[in-house]
Amino acid sequence: MNFTNITIGRRIKIGSISILILVIMLGLVAYYQTYKIHQQTETLYEHPLKVRRALGELTQAIFLMKIDFLMLSGNTDSHSRENLIQNLTYNNVVARGQIDTLYSAFLGPQSYIDSAKATLTYWIEEGMSSSRDGLAQNQSTPHLVQSQEAHLYNGAANTLAHIKKISDFALAKSYQLFDQSRRERDTLAIQLIALVFFILVLASVINNGLLNSMRTPLAEILCAAKAFRKKNYSARSKYASRNEFGELSEAFNSLVTTIEEVLTLNEKIALISGVMIHEDDPHHFFYSTLKTLMEITTSQMASLYLLSEDKKCFEQCTSIGLDQTLPVSFLAHEQEGEFGCALATQTVTVLSAIPESTRFMYKSVYGTIVPSGIITIPVVASKEVVAIISLACVNTYSTEAVSFINAVLNTLTARFISILSTKKNQALTNILKIQNMELLAQKSELTAQSTELAEQNRELEAQKKQLDDAGKLKTSFLSNMSHELRTPLNSVIALSGVLHRKCRGKLPPEEYAYLEVIERNGRMLLALINDILDLSRIESGKEELDLNAFTAQEIVNETIQMLKPQADEHSIEMVTEFPTEPLTLVNDAHKIQHILQNILANAIKFTEKGSITSSITTTSEQIIISIKDTGIGIHPDHISFIFDEFRQADGSTSRRYGGTGLGLAIAKKYACLVGGDISVTSILGEGSTFSVFLPKSISPGVQQNVQISSQKNRIPSQSLKPTSPPSETTILVVDDSNPALIQLQDILSEEGYTVLIATGGEEALSIIEKTIPHAIILDLMMPDIDGFEVLGTIREADRTAHVPVLILTAKQITQEELNFLTRNNIHQLIQKGDINRTELCLAIQSMTHQSIPMPKPIKKQRLFSSKPTLLIVEDNPDNLLTMNALLSDNFMLITATNGQKGIDLAEQKLPDIILMDISLGGMDGITAFKTIRGKQNTAHIPIIAVTANAMLHDKEMILALGFDGYVPKPIETTTLFDTLQEALYDL
Ligand code: ADP
Repeated sequence: MNFTNITIGRRIKIGSISILILVIMLGLVAYYQTYKIHQQTETLYEHPLKVRRALGELTQAIFLMKIDFLMLSGNTDSHSRENLIQNLTYNNVVARGQIDTLYSAFLGPQSYIDSAKATLTYWIEEGMSSSRDGLAQNQSTPHLVQSQEAHLYNGAANTLAHIKKISDFALAKSYQLFDQSRRERDTLAIQLIALVFFILVLASVINNGLLNSMRTPLAEILCAAKAFRKKNYSARSKYASRNEFGELSEAFNSLVTTIEEVLTLNEKIALISGVMIHEDDPHHFFYSTLKTLMEITTSQMASLYLLSEDKKCFEQCTSIGLDQTLPVSFLAHEQEGEFGCALATQTVTVLSAIPESTRFMYKSVYGTIVPSGIITIPVVASKEVVAIISLACVNTYSTEAVSFINAVLNTLTARFISILSTKKNQALTNILKIQNMELLAQKSELTAQSTELAEQNRELEAQKKQLDDAGKLKTSFLSNMSHELRTPLNSVIALSGVLHRKCRGKLPPEEYAYLEVIERNGRMLLALINDILDLSRIESGKEELDLNAFTAQEIVNETIQMLKPQADEHSIEMVTEFPTEPLTLVNDAHKIQHILQNILANAIKFTEKGSITSSITTTSEQIIISIKDTGIGIHPDHISFIFDEFRQADGSTSRRYGGTGLGLAIAKKYACLVGGDISVTSILGEGSTFSVFLPKSISPGVQQNVQISSQKNRIPSQSLKPTSPPSETTILVVDDSNPALIQLQDILSEEGYTVLIATGGEEALSIIEKTIPHAIILDLMMPDIDGFEVLGTIREADRTAHVPVLILTAKQITQEELNFLTRNNIHQLIQKGDINRTELCLAIQSMTHQSIPMPKPIKKQRLFSSKPTLLIVEDNPDNLLTMNALLSDNFMLITATNGQKGIDLAEQKLPDIILMDISLGGMDGITAFKTIRGKQNTAHIPIIAVTANAMLHDKEMILALGFDGYVPKPIETTTLFDTLQEALYDL
């Protein structure tokens, strides 16, 4: 077995075990030798030493017995002899005991002890017998005593001689043992030294061996690592054996091989990335990329196929090394030939070692050339293969080449997609360029058309102006027409009513019935006119909201009460289903009542028998009033247009039930105006349900359209007492419009006022700083500082806070603005379009004479002894007749048929009250009114305007002039009497 192949671990184990064995041996040897020394010492102790001690004892006993023998030989005293014999016996026992000890401990020949024992035994026995005999003989034979003594001495000496022999042997033995022990010690020392030395040598040998076996491979691997670090990528460790370092060296070599491969791969990736990034032009990019791919993968041929616009096939875009006569294209959806697998899996496909037999069956881009390896790279964008690169090699592709393709695939795909979109963008840019040019051409054409359009626009503007004028004309026409239509109608209805009342029983019944027909038809005509006027008012945007709070229950109940007589006439039951808690609305009660009245009237009209149920429900934002009848119902084909103007469900309905077809159209428009809506459901022959949806509170959008309509919001006009304007009265006129300034200055100067002119807010304020005018006429819409700001500043300063201000504006005033004006205490608000010299003068007079107490008509709690005198100024004889018929019972009537006559009669008769028609021929009613008011003796007479002008601002204007009341035509009897009462008694 080769030593170098032994693993380091095993080597360390072997070394350690060897050292361990030697140490154990060392221990054993030491133990053995120590044991031996111990045995020597023990032997020394057990034998020579014991023998020597026993010999000492024995010698002592012999000497004592010798003395006893000697004393016994001469002694006759039996007692002492007795004692001596006892001593002798004792010492003999001791001596015997010691001889026994010698037997056990003496290492020499036993014959020595036998001899000593025999000698001793003989000596003692001889001594004892001679002692006993001697006692008898002694006295007789002294020479015998001497022989006994000699014997005693000799016997002891013999015994001692034997003992000495033993003692010498024991001594010699002890020396021998000591020498032997010293030798043992020396041997032990030598063995230990030898062993320790051997261990040390062995340990160092093992150590060195181990160190060397580690240093060499480490140095080799280190050397290779250093070389590799210095970019010598071919450096490898040459150390090769089957130990750990061999494995380490092998691992290191494979690691650096991998690193070298990765580095090489990275270099290749960097190379192709550089090429791909460098090129932006699609054609160059495709060519360079293919070329580099070929170089890196050592391919001989390469080809790029792009997905066609219609996505049906892959068409060749660029190729290198291919037979150009081969027009190969591949069908995309059939996934045929070489591209089939790549298209199906959308991954790189490698064909290696293609057998020759395959070339005829397998459709590839390489035609007759038989490559040994083909790599097909699909470029996938949004899960779709948009391009395919095919590489071919006459040899089989190396794994490095395949790894390279896989490694570069993502970058390649990203760059390809970017280049393909660039290609698309280029195509689009070209299209755009062409389109741009087309657009430029179209633009110039359009410019020409635009000039034409501008021309047409101007024409349209002119037409619009004409339309506006026509609209104004229409409004004015409607206003006049209303007057012209209502005046005769008023007579017809009123007089037919009077006749109807007065001629009962006086006319034959048939003729009497004519009066009813006249009145009914008159009323129908009036309703139609009113409807048309309502409609026209809504369409002209002049309809305004008069907001107040009321409950839904109240308004429905009131409407039902109004129409109950009609319902009773047809025996129709009126049912109500109301929630108990009151549902409050803030809205225009008048308009809502109009809507409900229309729907309820229709319900009564179209219900021949049954009931009408009015119910109220509520949602979080709305209150829904539903009116359900059991009438004729509406055909589904007609239901969609019943809210259209002049549309009825069908012709027969109008013939049978009458009506104009305007009621629901107006109701719907009113519903929208109050922020709600109307809907209908109906079953022909069973009945209809009309639902009115009303907001609980009116939305801000609707509120913006709320104009000055409410009595509460109207700015009160003053009763006027015209006087000659003092020339020192200064009026400041603030307006940025020159024509307005000229007009106002003209009127005011003519009236004798001193006029100050300011063309803007700033100028006005600077004038006010110097002079405080008696009154100000202020326009609202001005650049920089507008009228609102000027008004605010005037009212804030103490010195000007009291100055009366008349607002003259063309602006549509919002509720918010109206609130501001009212808060700032303006005297009056006049719409610019309505400006009229008399009205303006009256307003100015009213402003400048506010402090002068006006003679008030004596009307407070007046008591009349007889009927009050009423002057009627009316130029229409029919109307005059009507009023006569209506009022003759309650008033002393005086009549005047024109303005001047009216003034004269007022002066002469001093009536209690005057009814003044506004639209008089010749002097109009307003001029007559002003004249009467201007005269000292008639100024106090209350004057009520009577007009058929239905447009709202007419009423406003009339009240602003200072009339004490307003009665619209056709005259409602109650309205007329109420207004007269109010004016007369200030109720
Ligand atoms: P008119 O003055 O004709 O009643 P409206 O605008 O009020 O005009 O109604 C339009 C048409 O709608 C009516 O002519 C009628 O055909 C139909 N109509 C309205 N209300 C009812 C109802 N309650 N039942 C049946 N038909 C109705």
